[in-house]
Amino acid sequence: MSVSKSVSPTEQESASGEKECLIWDRQHETMARPELEKLQLKRLQSVVTRCYNKVPFYRQKMDACGVRPQDIESLADVSKLPFTTKHDLRDNYPFNMFAEPMENIIRLHASSGTTGKPVVVGYNRNDLDTWVELMARTYTSAGVTKVDIVHNSFGYGLFTGGMGFHYGAERVGATIVPVSGGLTKKQVMLWQDFGATVLTSTPSYACVLAEQVEESGLKPATDLKLRIALFGAEPCTPQMKADVEKKLNVEVYDTYGLTEMMGPGVGIECPYHDGLHIAEDHFLIEIVDPETGEVLPPGSQGEMVLTTLTKEAFPVLRFRTRDRTLINQEPCACGRTLARLQKIAGRTDDMLIIKGVNVFPSQIESVILSIPQLEPQYVIVVDRGSNHMDDFEILVECSEKVHNEGEEAMETTRLRLVAEMHQVLGLNARIKVVAPKTLSRSEGKAKRVIDLRDMNQ
Ligand code: ADP
Ligand code: ZN
Repeated sequence: MSVSKSVSPTEQESASGEKECLIWDRQHETMARPELEKLQLKRLQSVVTRCYNKVPFYRQKMDACGVRPQDIESLADVSKLPFTTKHDLRDNYPFNMFAEPMENIIRLHASSGTTGKPVVVGYNRNDLDTWVELMARTYTSAGVTKVDIVHNSFGYGLFTGGMGFHYGAERVGATIVPVSGGLTKKQVMLWQDFGATVLTSTPSYACVLAEQVEESGLKPATDLKLRIALFGAEPCTPQMKADVEKKLNVEVYDTYGLTEMMGPGVGIECPYHDGLHIAEDHFLIEIVDPETGEVLPPGSQGEMVLTTLTKEAFPVLRFRTRDRTLINQEPCACGRTLARLQKIAGRTDDMLIIKGVNVFPSQIESVILSIPQLEPQYVIVVDRGSNHMDDFEILVECSEKVHNEGEEAMETTRLRLVAEMHQVLGLNARIKVVAPKTLSRSEGKAKRVIDLRDMNQ
């Protein structure tokens, strides 16, 4: 049976040059701001009351700072509420933050929790309905419709990615192929056999898949039907995005989410690719100074703080996301009025301080990807040197071509990277250029930084 898929309206441009944008929930996604703020306030008052009445943790915290639910009279009053941190959520492991009895909880998920206990989140039926709706918005925003075949490489399990992307695709009526991560060769075979038009995965796993396509000698434009990739769960530099777009012949749409709020679907990219629209009817955004916690004026860069407005089983007040970002409230050409996350400039806890210089892994990635002789596969090893100064080394793979040319070519590439890294970071990095396919590949979120400083103390 041959699989044929039509071109999505998002890829068509009208005579006036405007892109046609599909919108799943026009009522909420294009609401005038005064109306949206009215809805947000009503929902904020209700979620604060719910937290105060049903979660002892919130009652204690609110009592301690002398704030009652009835004190929330405007959206700005949210700043009277205490923050919630990842530590708070962990301390209440597993179920103490739930605002519903267990008999009403129908699903659990958890953050990866690489160190210590994970954060466990619970959903009741309404929460799952909301999530599916927001994921339907996500797909629709990227132009995915029922004619599409969605190949989902996000991991299934406690991680929210797999099931989040799964049920959203069903809601828009697309055909979902629930593959999960791993078995990379087989994934590419399924693309060919099933005619997948959409890939959903972490950007780092998309790179691994793209590498497999190259290795199989397939030409994506003719041998595959992929046209869209939806990314999420980790940062993706513009260079990485461009690399995957070229190698897989797709248009990439980024999505933002976090387990503590719900999972994927919190922020979605539209065909204008100028920021990620936040579902403000379900999440209230603040930008704060990461050091002082002070609320910053609109347009400032700072740490994003989110409050769930509609979550019933796991409501969260003023969650410190640690994501550094900038919010743009200008209406978008796509018709959505929802504010946009203009950029996610890394996490406040991602930043490495090397010899007193602030370094974000994304800066390192941008430099690596700007050099065609290198592959987008790298790892940054941070350690304390013999003089107790922070020291780091970058291991990066070169292309097959450079490797075949021999050691001299690899050394020339290395020297170029050292020079460009110095330009961008103002630091002399130790760099090792290694042979292709020697660093380990990720099937989900990539672990790019190995920090040995704490281990060796
Ligand atoms: P965990 O906490 O276990 O890593 P999550 O999936 O909840 O699992 O991680 C959420 C975090 O992932 C966000 O706070 C953010 O730092 C990062 N993230 C998610 N989506 C994006 C994105 N599109 N761009 C950059 N970072 C992202
Ligand atoms: Zn838009």
